Amino acid sequence: MSQDNCLFCGIIAGDIPSEKVYEDDAVYAFKDINPKAKVHVLIVPKRHYPNVAVLAREDASLLAHIVEVAQSVADDAFHGEYRLVFNTGKDAGQTVFHVHAHVLTGEVLDE
Ligand code: 5GP
Repeated sequence: MSQDNCLFCGIIAGDIPSEKVYEDDAVYAFKDINPKAKVHVLIVPKRHYPNVAVLAREDASLLAHIVEVAQSVADDAFHGEYRLVFNTGKDAGQTVFHVHAHVLTGEVLDE
């Protein structure tokens, strides 16, 4: 389930503090520590998957649930409009290898 030395597993477990936005049995959502938009929320599955491709292959319905939670965050923050980003791989900017959706919203975004 959780993986040793994984930052986001530590956040999900409550060992590392975070600002919770939403939680259910499957996912945890919290504010990004270095926001790139007025509202920048990270949504992570509680079970450890290294990236979105592995999540899609192993549990597509959990990936769909993450999109539903993203929509709900944006419904609350900014009339349901948002950017959803999954950095996948070091050269694409992924720095934490526990899959996470970046939800960017709360304001009009630059292209
Ligand atoms: P990545 O670059 O892997 O796509 O995204 C990792 C994200 O995690 C970054 O946007 C970064 O700001 C965020 N982050 C890194 N460490 C922490 C932390 O300790 N707490 C929170 N809330 N966000 C973090």
